[in-house]
Amino acid sequence: MARQQLAEFLNCSSTEVFFTGSATEADNLAIFGVIKAAQRKAVVKPHIITSAIEHPAVLGPARFLEELGEIETTYLPVGREGIVKASDVEKAIKPNTVLVSIMYANNEIGTIQPIAKISQLIKKKNSLIHNSKFLILFHTDAVQAANYLDCDVKKLDVDLLTLSGHKVYGPKGVGVLYVKKGIVIEPIMFGGHQEQSLRPGTENVAGIVGFGEAINRIKNQESRIKSNEKIKKLRDKLLDGILTKISGTYLNGSRENRLPNNANISFKGVEGESILMALDQKGIAVSTGSACASGSLEPSHVLMALGLSHQQAHGSIRFTLGRYTTEDEIDYVLGTLPEVIERLREISPLK
Ligand code: PLP
Repeated sequence: MARQQLAEFLNCSSTEVFFTGSATEADNLAIFGVIKAAQRKAVVKPHIITSAIEHPAVLGPARFLEELGEIETTYLPVGREGIVKASDVEKAIKPNTVLVSIMYANNEIGTIQPIAKISQLIKKKNSLIHNSKFLILFHTDAVQAANYLDCDVKKLDVDLLTLSGHKVYGPKGVGVLYVKKGIVIEPIMFGGHQEQSLRPGTENVAGIVGFGEAINRIKNQESRIKSNEKIKKLRDKLLDGILTKISGTYLNGSRENRLPNNANISFKGVEGESILMALDQKGIAVSTGSACASGSLEPSHVLMALGLSHQQAHGSIRFTLGRYTTEDEIDYVLGTLPEVIERLREISPLK
């Protein structure tokens, strides 16, 4: 049932849905799985193309395999808007390219990548490869996109796609990797024969059932569009309010090609961590960098890839709205934040 619910959401067959323990695991399975399959076919030093702003669940395995000398990796840059250019993907393709992994929407700045366009270019390249032992596969991490964007794998024309249960109001500890029929990837764990032997180990049944139900609730495109509009309206009120009420502020990433729930803003002359703590005391939860990197003092790799300085990156915070965000909450933030920033700027050594 849950597998069928996921398959309907993705517009694929239920045999193409593989449950994992998280999206991190699904991303790792996609990268290692494709590389190990290429190595089995004796591809010499397979090449991966990814972007500089991917989630660590994609960058981590790519860097690991690169450090071991097993693969070559191209990390595509992004411009100030945080968008990967499809033409850059095309230019980066080499004879040993086996995988392109570009996220659908970014977790820190919410920018939406031109997945269908990139896919078209890859498919065109594949059609020109004759007598090849392998084709270039395309993976997208759609974890952040699932709530807001169409994840029809036929329209996106991807070979592999990752989802996470808890990013669609489902339970934690469950992910999905879509693997297009006919695509052979190797497992990264060995044992039983669950999930067609691609992901052995007893499944998290409760998590999977919850994931299916959560996905079922967001699959209706019409209600999704309505909900997106409501969230976007609130986000724009927050964003415009901050940008006009507080000087020295600017939006990170694209305004247009952006998830409706994301506002990532830099504040001149203040530390993001200080803003986060001050807002926390007022009952407002924001983040600096990605949730996975919180606790790290390194500036966000995503903001650095946009061309921000260390100081600018450290002075940024992310507001994430959701299905249950209310206008009163936005008004409360707009009423609270200017005073917080003013106070922090007065005592800031960064002035
Ligand atoms: N990919 C993206 C884009 C994410 O935002 C996250 C989590 O925030 C993950 C992967 C990892 O998901 P999980 O927590 O299910 O491992």
